[in-house]
Amino acid sequence: MKIAFIGLGNMGAPMAANLARAGHQVAGFDTAAPMPEGVTATDSAADAARGADVVVTMLPNGQILRAVADQVIPAMTPGAILCDCSTVDVDSARAVAGQARAAGLGALDAPVSGGIGGAQGGTLTFMVGGDAGDFARAAPLFDIMGQKAVHCGDSGAGQAAKICNNMILGVTMIATCEAFALADKLGLDRQKMFDVVSTSSGYSWSMNAYCPAPGVGPVSPADNGYKPGFAAELMLKDLTLSQQAAESADADTPMGALARELYARFVDDEDGRGRDFSAMLPRFEARRR
Ligand code: NAD
Repeated sequence: MKIAFIGLGNMGAPMAANLARAGHQVAGFDTAAPMPEGVTATDSAADAARGADVVVTMLPNGQILRAVADQVIPAMTPGAILCDCSTVDVDSARAVAGQARAAGLGALDAPVSGGIGGAQGGTLTFMVGGDAGDFARAAPLFDIMGQKAVHCGDSGAGQAAKICNNMILGVTMIATCEAFALADKLGLDRQKMFDVVSTSSGYSWSMNAYCPAPGVGPVSPADNGYKPGFAAELMLKDLTLSQQAAESADADTPMGALARELYARFVDDEDGRGRDFSAMLPRFEARRR
């Protein structure tokens, strides 16, 4: 296939490199980042998109996605698919999909879980919104870049799944970190705490796969001075998206709201910016009530 890849940052670069390595012809465009191996540089997003069967975008937010969509949609060949893998608000995902369909294109919102390691290893999970036929046509690309792709429903359903998942992640990471800080004060050894919780009803991905305590559990950013990984400001972005969605859908999400408030304080007023989102543990350690 001829693929255009727009946005070759931490996630996009390894995803595009995997598509090129699998034998696809990949043209790339990024306003700042260099092209990874196997990806041909172009001068604009529209240049990359011209003649492509699939245009993949991996961009910072919904506003930038809308601006890029305005450039690429008129350049795309009718019948081609615009596949956005960024994490953006549901409204932007639906607006861009509507614009693409009106131009005779297929459209998918296909955000990912699995982080930079998943992007490099081709083990991402894709959660996809859009037409079932478009999903089937893009599925071979999801198979290269990931290990699982779930068709969640119509346009916006992929983003809905992503922000619900990450709201759970933010809440469980905070709960895990505050529990470790409490365990410390109660004199409980951290390794024992992990051994119990990781095999008891308090377990979660935050504890078992991404343990925020250094030297305990599998290797995680905690073992690397809390260098991201998944930065606290990206968690704040996703929690903000989930709260905006809750507001517009009139859903009651008090734990998500509190998690957003704690991450906002961590990033804006404390030392969270540029640190992994699991650095909530040293934050709780340093604080009293
Ligand atoms: P990043 O900032 O490393 O990459 C974004 C890239 O987009 C940058 O290289 C930037 O130069 C480029 N860009 C910005 N505006 C552009 C434009 N107008 N045209 C072309 N390129 C443009 O971010 P990332 O970590 O790769 O994340 C990308 C998306 O994936 C985000 O939506 C993020 O929320 C999501 N995500 C990230 C992770 C993670 O662990 N990093 C995990 C899951 C999802």
